[in-house]
Amino acid sequence: MRPLRMLWFRLKALLFRSRMDRELDEELRFHLDVEAAGLADVSIAGGEPLLHKQLPEIVRGIVGRKKFVYLCTNALLMEKKMAQYEPSTFFTWSVHLDGDKEMHDHSVCQPGVYDRAVAAIKAAKERGFRVNINCTLFNTAQPDRVAEFFDTVMEFGVDGITVSPGYAYERAPDQQHFLNRGKTKQLFRDVFKRGPKNKKWSFSQSSMFLDFLAGNQSYHCTPWGNPTRTIFGWQKPCYLLGEGYAKTFRELMDATDWDSYGTGNYEKCADCMVHSGYEASAVNDAVAHPLKALAVSLRGPRTDGEMTPEISLDRQRPAEYVFSKHVERKMEEIREAKSRPELAKAG
Ligand code: SF4
Repeated sequence: MRPLRMLWFRLKALLFRSRMDRELDEELRFHLDVEAAGLADVSIAGGEPLLHKQLPEIVRGIVGRKKFVYLCTNALLMEKKMAQYEPSTFFTWSVHLDGDKEMHDHSVCQPGVYDRAVAAIKAAKERGFRVNINCTLFNTAQPDRVAEFFDTVMEFGVDGITVSPGYAYERAPDQQHFLNRGKTKQLFRDVFKRGPKNKKWSFSQSSMFLDFLAGNQSYHCTPWGNPTRTIFGWQKPCYLLGEGYAKTFRELMDATDWDSYGTGNYEKCADCMVHSGYEASAVNDAVAHPLKALAVSLRGPRTDGEMTPEISLDRQRPAEYVFSKHVERKMEEIREAKSRPELAKAG
């Protein structure tokens, strides 16, 4: 962040310190959290972040500090709001697209969304923005169509593809179309086998993570590698599970019982292979074994032969359903603060 802007944030924090928890605006709290956590890049997800009125300022502040911002969007408001953002190496639109027109419109239960997203992608590329697509694959995905879809988005000129298997997290309404680990690995092998027909597929994930998706690496997750901060606080233990919230990043790190989560430890984690939990594990592996990582990077993910054995689920603890309680409690607090503004100011 530019020194003057940072100074302003610090001054604002100092001036309002006594009432900080209740009164500091979203923008300031967000910047302070990003700074405290020492994050190198920030993905802003939703709901739909483009609905947030302070978002352009939030993005400018993070980009100004030379941290990378991925702004995840369903693209419905993207063309309308595009003028509020500036192209930069540090700023990337991350457009949600779960496949071709039929696949994506079915995934979001609304016809016409794919066409609007594609129009927004093309408009952004024309204006010099970096654009990624983020794509979640479900058990209905057909490898041929997925491969063609990747070819198509590369033709649009996107800078990267972020791909992940759908994971049956407890709050998703449609539980029947998520993938289990065996099916995930076979699907990714079948997609990678088809390879790009024209331009190279440019994934925004590491080669080792893609090799993991194809069943060739056995990793335990690193949920703190992509910590999640919401309006409730820092989410425990990860983006996918909300089992409590910490006020600060330090508290998240110190007060979460990390060993009680992950595949093999917890029933809810049994089928998870999602990038937010495993990309950091893949990167750790690449740093520890650079020659192995180089070989995978050169040849791409292996798409045949035996897969690595699965982690045993025999000793996992049963699922606990705690998310709704946290949300109900927080919503109650918010309602109370709104109905009694003098309480909020006294905080
Ligand atoms: S396996 Fe790890 S990343 Fe996946 S849901 Fe469990 S704790 Fe989160």
